[in-house]
Amino acid sequence: MTKVLIKGGRIVTAVDDYVADILIENGKVEAIGRQLNSDEAEQHDATGLLVMPGGIDVHVHMETPMGNGVETCDSFESGTRSAAFGGTTTIIDFAQQFKGDSPKQALDRRLAAAEPQCCVDYGFHVILTDVTRAALAELPDLINQEGVSSFKLYMAYPGVVMVDDAAIYRTMRKVGDHGGMVNLHAENGIVIQAMIEEALEAGQTSPKYHQLTRPQLMEGEATHRVIRIAELAEVPVYIVHLSAKEALAAVVEARDRGIPAFAETCPHYLFLDQSEYDRPGFESAKYVMTPPLRNHECQHALWRGLRFDDLQIVSTDHCPFCFNENAYGILKSKQYGKDSFAKIPNGAPGVEFRLSLLYDGGVNAGRITLNRFVQLTATAPAKMFGLFPQKGTIAVGSDADIVLFDPHQRHTLSASTHHSNVDYSLFEGRSVQGKVQKVFLRGELIVDGEIWLGRAGMGRYLSRAASGRIL
Ligand SMILES: [Zn+2]
Repeated sequence: MTKVLIKGGRIVTAVDDYVADILIENGKVEAIGRQLNSDEAEQHDATGLLVMPGGIDVHVHMETPMGNGVETCDSFESGTRSAAFGGTTTIIDFAQQFKGDSPKQALDRRLAAAEPQCCVDYGFHVILTDVTRAALAELPDLINQEGVSSFKLYMAYPGVVMVDDAAIYRTMRKVGDHGGMVNLHAENGIVIQAMIEEALEAGQTSPKYHQLTRPQLMEGEATHRVIRIAELAEVPVYIVHLSAKEALAAVVEARDRGIPAFAETCPHYLFLDQSEYDRPGFESAKYVMTPPLRNHECQHALWRGLRFDDLQIVSTDHCPFCFNENAYGILKSKQYGKDSFAKIPNGAPGVEFRLSLLYDGGVNAGRITLNRFVQLTATAPAKMFGLFPQKGTIAVGSDADIVLFDPHQRHTLSASTHHSNVDYSLFEGRSVQGKVQKVFLRGELIVDGEIWLGRAGMGRYLSRAASGRIL
């Protein structure tokens, strides 16, 4: 395999910041030093650029069935190509067990779909929806043999994917002993369902009722409840897509007592608020994701959480549905729910813009440091989900997943230039400073400016070590 030499860049990890050269051999970082030379190496001048570990997005939904035939509109190929253009070189997607299904079969189905398509490296969390004795019995092998050390459970969507507190407790007890962790979608699904029925009975069907029937209090309640269950089960717990200040308060309270409770938030909760639901007509369906966008107070709380490590990770929850029906059909479109908010597919795109948004609105805006930026987007995800030090940093022996990032270049986020299949952006027209220039996956240049050099199927499955073993 060719050698690659990245010259003169400013190398930034979660802790370091210095100018040096990086020599890559056989897909791994071979040496870091000043004035490295290699005649046979492919050379890249990184003068004036930030050289950072490839992003790791631990919450994405590529070609994911949502029930009733509805499915997200990015394939593993289009979604991972979009990720790569945004500087993300590893994703962790989901493999969902259905009723009567085996968790191992769920994983095998997703592996078969992902393997020929993925353009970046990938892993899976297994979603459990039918927590039977037989399903629980499979989990130690999934952790120890298959490299799946995180399991997602839903406290929302009763009758679809929701499980009860006993199932959560049993899963935690089972996986905790083997280095596994449980990820929770924390909302009180029973009360929310009652509120949705109330709204529909009153004839309230427009998209804004999605937000009005999913109150912050019910995210706070479920987050508090599940952390207490994890405390009882004596296992780490991870809250996905945390959005409400009431939920963050529950995480902060637990962490202050030394409980290993962790949480992620997403760019849309940091940069958008619930005023988007005031848009006219069906336009606001673009912002129908779960949890919904929140108020300004929540945004302030989330930024504080990121600074003080009460939130450890920024993921995207990339769950794209086209706004218009035409390109991929009604089953991959928000139009599926045009008559009722309760039928609008829940989810929004974002895998490509995570680094640019967080760099511009976080680092440039003075809210987080550059090292913290790398920690939130690469290092903590790798450590949290058993990929470190293979992934998540730039160090001798680590995979050469490297992003060359121009901290000065301005660009405009838009669906007309992004690489996802989805036909809209939550951030359409937003100008940001800081742009991905080149992306290397295990030493291979896959993105060069606007040029795509990657290939479907070049991504590798990542067998992960224990999850949740960080502080
Ligand atoms: Zn999600």
